[in-house]
Amino acid sequence: MSIIEKSKFYQNFKKTKSKVIELEKRINEFENKFNTSSDSKCPACGAYQFFVIETNPHPSRGAAAIGLVLRKYQCKKCKFEETKTFSTNR
Ligand SMILES: [Zn+2]
Repeated sequence: MSIIEKSKFYQNFKKTKSKVIELEKRINEFENKFNTSSDSKCPACGAYQFFVIETNPHPSRGAAAIGLVLRKYQCKKCKFEETKTFSTNR
């Protein structure tokens, strides 16, 4: 391998290495996000700390029959609560 080839190889290696470090950093950020927060944003304070605390069948018979459920969310940060309707049919 000539000196030029060696230096090219080294440049590519350096690029790849910094790319890997960059990717590792992003993976860590994603893991932290999923471990510590919800993907639902609290409508009251805007924190990604909005978690399902209860799931109940829809009180309306017709709605329950087509698979609708009520999910109660609570924000861990500000304690704001909200009930949302979800369909369990996909
Ligand atoms: Zn909140």
